[in-house]
Amino acid sequence: MRGLMQQHRLTITSVIDYAETVYGDVEVVSRTIEGPLHRYGYRDCARRARQFAHALERLGIKSGDRVGGASWNHYRYLETFFGAAGVGAILHTINPRLFAEQLVYTVNHAQDRFIVTDAACLPIFETVQDQLETVEGFIVLAAAADIPATGLSNIYCYDELLEGADEAFPWADVDEWDGSGLCYTSGTTGDPKGILYSHRSSVLNALGFTTPNGVGIGFNDTLMPIVPFFHGNGWGVPFAAPMAGAKLVLPGREMEMNKLHELIVGEDVTIALAVPTVWLSMLEHLRATGANLGRLGRIVTGGAAPPRAMIEELEAQYGVTTSHAWGMTETSAAVTYSHPPDGVDDEAALDVRSTQGRPVYGVQIKVVDEDGRPLPWDGSSAGELKASGYWIASEYYKASDKPAVDADGWLITGDIGFIGEDGNLRLTDRAKDVIKSGGEWISSIDLENAAAGHPDIVEAAVIAVPHERWQERPFLIAVRRQGSEVTAADVLAWLAERVAKWWLPEDVAFTSEIPHTGTGKIDKVALRKQFADRNPGLATGQHDED
Ligand code: ADP
Repeated sequence: MRGLMQQHRLTITSVIDYAETVYGDVEVVSRTIEGPLHRYGYRDCARRARQFAHALERLGIKSGDRVGGASWNHYRYLETFFGAAGVGAILHTINPRLFAEQLVYTVNHAQDRFIVTDAACLPIFETVQDQLETVEGFIVLAAAADIPATGLSNIYCYDELLEGADEAFPWADVDEWDGSGLCYTSGTTGDPKGILYSHRSSVLNALGFTTPNGVGIGFNDTLMPIVPFFHGNGWGVPFAAPMAGAKLVLPGREMEMNKLHELIVGEDVTIALAVPTVWLSMLEHLRATGANLGRLGRIVTGGAAPPRAMIEELEAQYGVTTSHAWGMTETSAAVTYSHPPDGVDDEAALDVRSTQGRPVYGVQIKVVDEDGRPLPWDGSSAGELKASGYWIASEYYKASDKPAVDADGWLITGDIGFIGEDGNLRLTDRAKDVIKSGGEWISSIDLENAAAGHPDIVEAAVIAVPHERWQERPFLIAVRRQGSEVTAADVLAWLAERVAKWWLPEDVAFTSEIPHTGTGKIDKVALRKQFADRNPGLATGQHDED
């Protein structure tokens, strides 16, 4: 017997409709590309999203068409998420930091008909324009007067397109399983692969985000996604914030710590989301300026493992707790979030915050051995991580030769880790970064974490280097705190007290900066190249790269 409940589809547009109706005055504050802050309410965002839907229709965009988006986080870009979904189109969020070759590949593969972009990202298309096979025009997210001179043809001004457009728009009659967003993996190995999110997966992912075991947000919160919307669906923020009626603070392109700090304090941000490197830089900024973080109570971090010392300092010095999340482009946004139980002491709480956390309702995880058999949740049995659930990819877009899931339908993540009895996941490595020394795994994440805990080390990275006897050995590359003269021997002595003896890196090299990928991960491919001539298995002592 079927239930007798109303049948409403889970659609992205329902989110902005809700925010408009119930939290219409709640502010969206943006640092514009031009510089000044802009503020308006969800009511205005919804109205302009509908006007953009009209504009897209006028340009001939139909249900299922792809529209590329290459922009920093600000209100106009937020509007396009709803406007595009509102005509049944698919917004392909493009990482403007992609290499030109990958940019061209993804736009052509997605067959984007138009590109929505801001003045800051516009130039990246100028050199590749002729190679974009399907793009009919560029819609610049700006007022006409703020559009810079450009060699691009077929430029449309976003504000002009909206001007005079009807403020009412009947949202397209989409099925909740229809595609709504498209995001490509970074493609560090091989071509980038597209993940096609659906209305349903986006709504359920955002719902999970709002629950207390996720990020846990409501209308009393002010959220600042420092993570760009092009990185893994903006971690779900474009949908979760309006769903919760939370105030939204969008930092635009200005990622300098003083600018971010000004917004955090000035706009009373309560929760901010960013990759660990941003928080490491923010701590440097706070130490240098003696500033605090205002009303900021919590951060959410992920995309890479945050050093335990970072979590500890944020909490002890600034009263900011960390929720650490794990996810990947293939999983829409986060799958797991770390939250310590009430009543445990500080050390135990820190232990839990340092894990990648527990899955929220709607997604499941497991780690499996080499034969694919699930390993016990015992806090030590390590294997490959797999994931399944409402917002996890089933296949890659137009790439059926590259399976995303195993024979049982579980996503193959390429991550290695174990799960504790309490359900908290602990990642030890990306499979391709694993260090296999004498047949045993050494966790590069754990080593990096331990090294970054040294008071004179700002950031640390560990790569595998070949070794005659042990096949591979860890090699540590570190950035010294300004003014510090810490030596390789000091760092090794520090590590000797914290990791097993056979985990100790063969050597330590100091560098002024560790390279990062466009999504804030340590770029190990670049590091391996940079240190290719090293054979630390034979060397001793300290090396300076500065
Ligand atoms: P990109 O390569 O574009 O950054 P993703 O964001 O999809 O792509 O990267 C996902 C990968 O990032 C995961 O498979 C994992 O290796 C790593 N990752 C994500 N979150 C964490 C985390 N909390 N701790 C450690 N690694 C993480």
